[in-house]
Amino acid sequence: MKKVVKFGGSSLANAEQFRKVGNIVLAEEDRRYVIPSAPGRRFPGDTKVTDMLYSCYHLAESGQDFSAALQNIRDRYEEIIQGLGLDLDMEPEFETIEASFRARVGEDYAASRGEYLNGIVMAAFLGYTFVDAAEVIAFDEDGAFDDKKTDKQLSRRLEDIPKAVIPGFYGAMPDGSIKTFSRGGSDITGSLVAKAVHADLYENWTDVSGFLMADPRIIKDPVTIPTITYREMRELSYMGATVLHEDAVFPLRKEGIPINVRNTNCPDDPGTMVVESTCNKPRFCITGIGGKKGFASVTIEKAMMNTEVGFGRKVLQVFEDVGMTFEHTPSGIDTFTVLVNQHEFEPHEQQVIAGLHRSVRPDLIELESDLALIAVVGRGMRRTRGTAGRIFSALAHAHVNVKMIDQGSSELNIIIGVENRDFETAIKAIYDIFVIAQL
Ligand code: ASP
Repeated sequence: MKKVVKFGGSSLANAEQFRKVGNIVLAEEDRRYVIPSAPGRRFPGDTKVTDMLYSCYHLAESGQDFSAALQNIRDRYEEIIQGLGLDLDMEPEFETIEASFRARVGEDYAASRGEYLNGIVMAAFLGYTFVDAAEVIAFDEDGAFDDKKTDKQLSRRLEDIPKAVIPGFYGAMPDGSIKTFSRGGSDITGSLVAKAVHADLYENWTDVSGFLMADPRIIKDPVTIPTITYREMRELSYMGATVLHEDAVFPLRKEGIPINVRNTNCPDDPGTMVVESTCNKPRFCITGIGGKKGFASVTIEKAMMNTEVGFGRKVLQVFEDVGMTFEHTPSGIDTFTVLVNQHEFEPHEQQVIAGLHRSVRPDLIELESDLALIAVVGRGMRRTRGTAGRIFSALAHAHVNVKMIDQGSSELNIIIGVENRDFETAIKAIYDIFVIAQL
């Protein structure tokens, strides 16, 4: 067995957390490749090292004194190194960083140093080989991620190294300059390493025991999802349940490598397995509930629109012309509704109305704002009769007015539109009927 293990910032925030990580890694021979993030928050209100690096670099870039800011970063690492009792002198590294900041080498370089330094500390702590991500993770000259080159470089480099630490979040462009992924991107590095070494499992260690069936800010102590498919996870993540970086999923999904999301602070919890497909029957008929507030709907009414060839295309073209995506398009015989992100829509509102008048000559255009979308997701729904019925009777009992319904063609999800103010009540009602009532 070969496992790739990635640890998030909160798992590496101080020496105490590092020790937990060390115990986890060394508990299994199979945990051969380790991807660390930069040290994260130690307590609520604390600053992540990545953010400290960004602000320190901005001072340097604008010609201000950044020595105190850099010292604070140095202190974060010193606390870890001393706390672990390591004999490691990071001074030469900090001298290089300081000189590079003065030379204004770029924000990405600055941000990447959090992972880079943590990688050095982690390798020394575990006794593993340090492999700089700049040598193995490749971006092209335009800054786009180069998957083929990365895969080749990674597999070649790691072929003869049985145990290595590869810092997350960054790589290099052909000219050697450092480029980072988007925030939270260490997850991506982990998945790329897992793919390149043909790992049997990618473990993603964080500070929660996996994916929860619902948002814990709405539902107290929601049940953890033991197994979720990639498709279900996509649906739930899109609807706000983010545990893994979106882009981390695709490389693994293609290879059929499962992900295990685990909690560094509760290492005995089994966490959530994310898999391509499974015979595992979910305990509940639904896998999870996700949701987002802040949508607006544009309803276009026109008698006999169903006979007009190209009506839908013309409507959507108006949104395309202002550079907007749409979420859903529920329709009736003489109505066509486009659901959009309210925040994105607001600046284009009048332009869209004028565009619709010009292109489809509607009888009426109606706008509604402050809507929320709730996604009830579950591979088990396909086999179960009456899921929709149960959802809607639960919502009726909770006095929630349903504004829109959309069942995905995969039968993997049912999307329900409600008013923003009914959002929490609706989620509670759905959770109660499918989970609490079955416990
Ligand atoms: N340290 C980076 C961030 O804070 C990347 C990561 O943690 O995955 O976004």
